[in-house]
Amino acid sequence: MKRLIIPFFLSNKGCRSRCIFCSQSISTGLHPDKISREYFCTTVENHLHSAGSGHRETQVAFYGGNFTGMHEHEQERLLKYALDFVKSGLVHSVRISTRPDFINEKCLRLLKAHSVKTIEIGGQSMIDDVLERAQRGHTADDTKRAFVHLHDMGFETALHLMIGLPGDTDERFFHSVEEAVRLRPQAVRLHPALVFKDTMLASMYKAGDYHPLSLENAVSLSLRALIRFRQEGIPVIRMGLYTSEAMERKGNLLAGPYHPAFGALVESSLFLEMASALLAKVEPLRSGVTFFVAPSDVSNLRGLNNGNMKLLREKTGSHPLEICEEPGQKKGLLALVYDGNRYTALPSTHGEGIFKINRHTAALR
Ligand code: SF4
Repeated sequence: MKRLIIPFFLSNKGCRSRCIFCSQSISTGLHPDKISREYFCTTVENHLHSAGSGHRETQVAFYGGNFTGMHEHEQERLLKYALDFVKSGLVHSVRISTRPDFINEKCLRLLKAHSVKTIEIGGQSMIDDVLERAQRGHTADDTKRAFVHLHDMGFETALHLMIGLPGDTDERFFHSVEEAVRLRPQAVRLHPALVFKDTMLASMYKAGDYHPLSLENAVSLSLRALIRFRQEGIPVIRMGLYTSEAMERKGNLLAGPYHPAFGALVESSLFLEMASALLAKVEPLRSGVTFFVAPSDVSNLRGLNNGNMKLLREKTGSHPLEICEEPGQKKGLLALVYDGNRYTALPSTHGEGIFKINRHTAALR
């Protein structure tokens, strides 16, 4: 069962300056400047009503600003609205997103007292030069310190990383990924840098001082990061920004690797790599092959517009290739049945190659 998250967007509240890529009005859309108790309650009740039952856990989330950078009274005001729902049993806990340089014991005690369970940290990069160019106003050490506090006080954590910021390189990005692994967050979000109008990044882009990643490159970097995090058992809960109406409005997004289904592109690239690794294991083929996947992974295996299938059929040649939905199959796992054997592929643990391929001679499902 999934977690139900009821989001509220704070539109840069608590931000002391503006990061060069940030346009909350475009990336998250327009939201009320002040969240009143009435607006809060109506929004939560509407979400609970339309979601129905069947959610493992319900959280109220405050996103789109620097929560712990807001005045303490304002933090308490919003947290009390949420706490009333927690006390009534309709909501289980609260999650917030904030900056690493606004984490200290005092603010964490306030959050703890108001049922905040999950804290998302906008780390964005673990390279100081990249952070400075993005005018983040914090260092990689601030992020490390924040995670020590968060772990010490028992919070669930999520880390945001960006791909393609000015000054970043593939090598630097994977250094950030390795540092992120060492921080042991419970989840990661990967966001490619996009050029929104009226941002500093837009001025740099127009002046020819910033060259965004291509979509292909951003997908490939995200894929490698996704594999690395999966190797470490760290869930990547989001790849690419949520698509807002404002983002799709002409003139708001100037450049960058935007795709409304960015995460699905990365997931389908992962399935193509796993399928190719499995086929390589059984080549040369003498007969047809069948792939088994969880029902929710069928589209990932097929790829956008069946793109993966076309590429895989080139590899299988005249031998039939079939896909079988396998209820109960673990999501993210791909199995191939060929010549009486079943092979499975999963991102391997570090040092064993990219994928771990297992062969099961007896199981012929
Ligand atoms: S801290 Fe976050 S919300 Fe505030 S300006 Fe930077 S990216 Fe935007």
